[in-house]
Amino acid sequence: MKKIAVMTSGGDAPGMNAGIRAVTRTALSMGIEVMGIYRGYQGMIEADFIPLDHFKVSNIIHRGGTFLKTARSQDFRTVEGRATAAANLKKEGVEGLVVIGGDGSFRGAAALHSEHGIKVVGCPGTIDNDLFGTDYTIGYDTAVNTAVHAIDQIRDTADSHNRLFFVEVMGRDAGFIALRTGLASGAESVLVPETTTYIDELIVHLQKGLKMQKSSAIIIVAEGDDEGGAIDVARKVNEKFTGWETKVTVLGHIQRGGSPTAFDRILASRMGHQAVKSLLAGATDIMIGQRNNEMVEVPFGQAVKHHETLNPHLLELVEILA
Ligand code: ADP
Repeated sequence: MKKIAVMTSGGDAPGMNAGIRAVTRTALSMGIEVMGIYRGYQGMIEADFIPLDHFKVSNIIHRGGTFLKTARSQDFRTVEGRATAAANLKKEGVEGLVVIGGDGSFRGAAALHSEHGIKVVGCPGTIDNDLFGTDYTIGYDTAVNTAVHAIDQIRDTADSHNRLFFVEVMGRDAGFIALRTGLASGAESVLVPETTTYIDELIVHLQKGLKMQKSSAIIIVAEGDDEGGAIDVARKVNEKFTGWETKVTVLGHIQRGGSPTAFDRILASRMGHQAVKSLLAGATDIMIGQRNNEMVEVPFGQAVKHHETLNPHLLELVEILA
């Protein structure tokens, strides 16, 4: 292999820039040329490329977002779109591709390989931590830290006014951000899509806190909870419980942005480095994961089909320590 390409695709996540830097500099150190693809698969179809050298990836390790931009591409979902994309890569002499993205991006990469023979390796870049085969995805730690920081500030005002706060965090299908945020911020309870939420049980829990003369309470709600988002849950609780004045905060997109934490920068650096090594060793259709602090190769088939499960002991721990 003489030349590879790197791109970011799907939802953006802090740490993607550190991943691009690691891919580029690892490849260059091995005498391999690197091409950046702007705007994910859409840029691949439109041949929106940039040759990357050592200095093109200078001063980006600490930046949120992705300097190569990211996109969702309907065209790439078609056979014709993928044929155009592959022809563009081949014209540039690209033989291998590193995709930093989520499960959709890996499905697209797998199609590119099976239809056109371009070798593909993925790095899990998503704040949701919902890919199977890795303990952490790039961006998750930063998103949790951003949410915890916001909730520390909410707690100050909640406590001053004796209020009950419902705080909605991201997670349409997965409660990882909610769980870790809840543990780190000392929340009273965490509501996640993976378990059934019982409003009556939540009210009993809140009443217990009120009896103990707690001055405030914070409930973390993942946006995809089965009882709805924070606004819905607050309304349902308020129909039966008015012990505290109730407020709702939806954290929204602030969780996606910001400078990546040291953890995410290191994770992305290790994964990007390993992705290039695996690609050059002949691997394809694999995601690089981190298991027990080691880099591992996970077949795309496994990474996208299964979900890691939430640790039920940690959910319990939130309530024990509340
Ligand atoms: P993420 O990678 O964050 O999960 P998406 O699910 O939006 O984000 O996927 C990113 C892009 O990958 C899509 O816009 C599309 O171009 C491509 N893609 C997703 N699924 C497929 C598929 N089954 N076949 C081909 N391309 C796909």
